Amino acid sequence: MSGKADPRAAGEGTTSRTRLDRGRGALGPALELVHTGRAPTRAVLTAELGVTRATAGAVAAELEALGLIRVDARPGAAAGSQGRPSHRLSVAEDGPVALAAQIHADGFRAALVGLGGRIVATAPGCEVVDADPAKVLGSVVEAGAELLSRTGRRCVGAGLAVPSAVAEPEGLALNPLHLAWPAGAPVREIFARQVRAAGIEGPAFAANDVNLAALAEHRHGAGRGARDLLCVATGHRGVGGALVLDGRLHTGSSGLALEVGHLAVNPEGRPCHCGSRGCLDVETDPLAFLTAAGREPGPDVSLLQRSYDLIRDHYADPAVRTATETLIDRLGLGLAGLVNILNPDRIVLGGLHRALLDADPERLRAVVAGRSLWGQSGGVPILPCGLDHNSLVGAAELAWQPVLDDPLGVPA
Ligand SMILES: [Zn+2]
Repeated sequence: MSGKADPRAAGEGTTSRTRLDRGRGALGPALELVHTGRAPTRAVLTAELGVTRATAGAVAAELEALGLIRVDARPGAAAGSQGRPSHRLSVAEDGPVALAAQIHADGFRAALVGLGGRIVATAPGCEVVDADPAKVLGSVVEAGAELLSRTGRRCVGAGLAVPSAVAEPEGLALNPLHLAWPAGAPVREIFARQVRAAGIEGPAFAANDVNLAALAEHRHGAGRGARDLLCVATGHRGVGGALVLDGRLHTGSSGLALEVGHLAVNPEGRPCHCGSRGCLDVETDPLAFLTAAGREPGPDVSLLQRSYDLIRDHYADPAVRTATETLIDRLGLGLAGLVNILNPDRIVLGGLHRALLDADPERLRAVVAGRSLWGQSGGVPILPCGLDHNSLVGAAELAWQPVLDDPLGVPA
């Protein structure tokens, strides 16, 4: 999205009613600018939309009347500034929320997420994911419905993040390998049915968890302002990737693009469930890390948490350090291949990959630079993901999208 409004929206010397009529086409772009933190004041909003000050004022007032944003007409003047400060814009603290749900190998999490990617309330749950998707999706929706009734918030819809490629247009979880779900489970339809059964208004959506993490990072986190953002992350098991182009997820023809987990980075490596050998999926995930470090997966904490703990608390242990370096080298090889093919202007890393970057950023950047055509100039910034629970925030973005497209459609 360029954030530019229909030029016909610009108008001079009219009543506020006509101004709003003319600014109607600017409501969505204006809400997206405030939602993503790119329009903190009315002056910035006016400039970004390319409309008159009066039209921007009418648009902001309408979004405030819809309960979506807050306009502070009397902000404190910044020290040393001259003249009257511009009205401050922020998302409404007590506005509506989206119900976000995430299923991962070790359980689920439900959350309510407001505009601005703000998590209002969360409910984690269960250690074992049932083999029947309807059961676990029923539990996570129930947890979300409880959060809604406790907070009394209006709900715009629901979004679900799953650790599987989700095929479009049917919304099928094609390869939920680390859950015991049957391949091809119609997760979006099941989720939508559970949402309706719980009496929750609004549409329901489902997508891959790393795709959603990338979307959230692009709008609210370390990916803000990137044009071609590549996100690579480990979940609790396996590795996923996503690309955000000009503000939209690149999904491919049927939702299955960027299956980076099956890029081979070690021809002699361990066999992968895809039929190949040495894929990123089995060479750079938490299980690969624990194995390389000679540690047994403990029964009490997840593989991901145990890997985090080792890197944080035992990095001086040569086995942990060597395992970290081995995984960094494999990850770097995979990223170098992706840089050659996709030419991103920024890479963000999540999950264990973020911890590997934090442990030795220079080593990872050197491997990527040394192994890629476009990386050699040292050009591609590699950053850690910036948001907690970015897949949840991204799931909420799916439910917020219809409101961002047409704010007048927000439930009253
Ligand atoms: Zn594979």
